[in-house]
Amino acid sequence: MGKKTTRAGKKTAKKVPAEKNEMAMIGGILEGSPEAIGVVVIRLDCGCRKMAAVDEKGDPASGIIMYRDNADAICDKCKKDAGDYMRVTESFIHWVEPAPNEEKQSAIRLKVLGDETKN
Ligand SMILES: [Zn+2]
Repeated sequence: MGKKTTRAGKKTAKKVPAEKNEMAMIGGILEGSPEAIGVVVIRLDCGCRKMAAVDEKGDPASGIIMYRDNADAICDKCKKDAGDYMRVTESFIHWVEPAPNEEKQSAIRLKVLGDETKN
């Protein structure tokens, strides 16, 4: 009996490229967090960004940084709700090269961002 081993349901990671201005921010965060293997980038509907470095266990490797492009401070909404997850438009992890394998990436993504399949 030839048992067929199909790898169904293999999740392909959604690739969201970081924008140029985000990359500058990511670079700065990584510089201050030597143990980081990636930076979580959260885009909010108001245009502000929330970022935090993660280490290889998926634990925070930096504080949470919030910023707004071309502005000295984050918007009033964010000051009030600190970037509530209800307002998240996009979230992804920018990995430090060489990026960890798919399995590790999903495990960390799940730990940090939760189950993305509900989007
Ligand atoms: Zn904001």
